[in-house]
Amino acid sequence: MACSDSRRRRVWTAARSGTRSGAAGFAALLGLTALALGPLARPALAELRWRQGVFPVATFLGYTSHFGQRVGPSGRSEPHYGLDIAAPMGSPIRSWWGGVVADVIDDGACGVGLVITSGPYEHIYCHLSGSAAGGVYRSGPVALGPGMAVRGGQLIGHVGMSGRTTGPHLHWGIRYQGRWLNPGAILKAMARARSAR
Ligand SMILES: [Zn+2]
Repeated sequence: MACSDSRRRRVWTAARSGTRSGAAGFAALLGLTALALGPLARPALAELRWRQGVFPVATFLGYTSHFGQRVGPSGRSEPHYGLDIAAPMGSPIRSWWGGVVADVIDDGACGVGLVITSGPYEHIYCHLSGSAAGGVYRSGPVALGPGMAVRGGQLIGHVGMSGRTTGPHLHWGIRYQGRWLNPGAILKAMARARSAR
């Protein structure tokens, strides 16, 4: 049985080796292959499935840090493996997609956070309010631990300032088979899917 530390390493190790058997098949089932396997402009069926995606913050104030290289607090250029979405303290956070809680994070960088897996995708939520005592994330009515199922759009927590942050925001990351994706590109795909007929 893995302790929480080893679980965290498993999730955060960049070069997670191997792929999950059947992952591509699961992705095809969800209609998610267009993003990972080809240009987002690929039309039709796969695009429509992105309508299921849920914007993770209820009270949007703005994007405060994009995905990719950025100048960090140290003044040096560093990679940023997610999208920072500013929102008032305590704003509800909703799961981008239905899935299963893979990990509850409690460290100095992400702070209190959650990792949810949806087939070959992992979506990560950092700097939450609430606590992660005993490996269970608790905030208001929310209590989530590894192995628990969540629906797309389900309330999974609240915006806070835990970990390395200078203001209340959600750090939202998405990985596909261990490779970080740009959440901004996914939001664009979701917007296109909603405007498509
Ligand atoms: Zn961030």
